[in-house]
Amino acid sequence: MSPVVENGKAIFFTVIAGDITKRKEIDLAKTEFVSLASHQLRTPLSAIRWYTEMLKKGMGGSITDTQKSYLDEVYNANLRMIDLVNSLLNVSRIDMGTVQSEPERICIPPVVKNVLGELAPRIAEKKLTVRETYAPDMPEHWFDPQQMRMIFQNLLSNAVKYTPEGGIIKVVAHPEGENIFFSISDSGIGIPKEQQPQIFNKLFRADNAREVDTTGTGLGLYIIKSIIEKTGGSLRFESEIGKGTTFYGILPIQRERPAVTTGSKPLV
Ligand code: ADP
Repeated sequence: MSPVVENGKAIFFTVIAGDITKRKEIDLAKTEFVSLASHQLRTPLSAIRWYTEMLKKGMGGSITDTQKSYLDEVYNANLRMIDLVNSLLNVSRIDMGTVQSEPERICIPPVVKNVLGELAPRIAEKKLTVRETYAPDMPEHWFDPQQMRMIFQNLLSNAVKYTPEGGIIKVVAHPEGENIFFSISDSGIGIPKEQQPQIFNKLFRADNAREVDTTGTGLGLYIIKSIIEKTGGSLRFESEIGKGTTFYGILPIQRERPAVTTGSKPLV
């Protein structure tokens, strides 16, 4: 919209309106294609996994050490592919608004502890220190347990992945009014300033992250930010290259049982 000015006065405005129906239809078609393609890929990928497992266990006959090391490579690459396909499916479900949510009463600290337990071998290997600080009055509230797990699984596994040996990771959570505030900070590689605006974009990975870890998908943060925002919360971060990163999240405390939304469960 722009004004047409005469003698310093706007005498009328010109407005240009565009019809974006076609663009929206194309977006939806693309999302549906990704959903269909990733769904179709799951079955053959599972078959590759089962048969590789059988070969590794020697169920197809004895194998040499070299053959075993090749099979290990096939197996790990297959797992990464399953992970990517599951994430793509989650993204398409989020974009189409068909993620199922079945809220239960949960409290954040046990969820974090459970995720940290899973990450314990990697934490020990990298000699990382983890500090957890929770307010004594952390409330129970309604939230889909699987989605809550995804939030902390993503943030904590990123903190572990992008923090060099001997680093420190801090988890803080406290309620304030009608919200729960939480933060996860690390003393890791940080996010380059010029790439920070793109960090929540689908498939985006910063250059320094690609260098330290070649296996990421760049979908995790997009997925969890969408989940958090869908419940009325928010997620942001502060980061300094070489010093570390802190993600700050706000989740509204759902005191009443929200309605169950039908659709497909997210895949983890
Ligand atoms: P992935 O970790 O699989 O690449 P994510 O969507 O979880 O995908 O993260 C997107 C990008 O954000 C990462 O590739 C990395 O560049 C950056 N990032 C996320 N968390 C951190 C962190 N704790 N420290 C440094 N960079 C991070």
